[in-house]
Amino acid sequence: MRRAVYPGSFDPVTNGHIDIIERALALFDEIVVAVVSNPNKKTSLFTLDERAEMIRGALGERPGLRVVSFTGLLVEFVQSQEAQAIVKGLRAVSDFDFEFQMALLNRRLAPRIDTVFLMTQDIYAFLSSSSVREIASLGGSVHGMVPPLVEKRLRDRFGIAPATAPSHAQTIERD
Ligand code: ADP
Repeated sequence: MRRAVYPGSFDPVTNGHIDIIERALALFDEIVVAVVSNPNKKTSLFTLDERAEMIRGALGERPGLRVVSFTGLLVEFVQSQEAQAIVKGLRAVSDFDFEFQMALLNRRLAPRIDTVFLMTQDIYAFLSSSSVREIASLGGSVHGMVPPLVEKRLRDRFGIAPATAPSHAQTIERD
């Protein structure tokens, strides 16, 4: 059984995360998506349970997929799941520096656990949960950046009316 853990704060899950999960499912027998409370990100928009529930809702029941939340040391969690690998998504060179450090530290703590990096698709390269939160909090549309149910949750959270066609799109059509 090839099992990997995909950890993240997923606050909220984006289409970039969904893409990584789907590609990881093609590589491993089982993917455990681990929703973590990151001590560096002091305030979160959604609770751990809400974040996990949105990932489950977006992906539905899939063989080989589990979504759990946890707090604590990642490598200990990976060992408790009897997983062999940690999956990480890479967007830009800026991700690499941090992820490289984390991978080396985790290897030091648990030499038998490998970190596997999946490169983002170009369309998701600039997508992050923090930018989604910021756009939504300012009333902008995050359509296409997050799964539809997350889009709705963000609209509810920030009291935004459902999006109509963007005005610039109408202009483009007219031209
Ligand atoms: P964010 O950085 O968006 O707040 P997380 O902390 O939840 O996201 O990240 C969880 C994992 O998903 C990390 O490995 C991160 O590099 C990866 N990831 C985040 N956004 C994307 C994306 N758009 N494309 C690919 N991987 C991503």
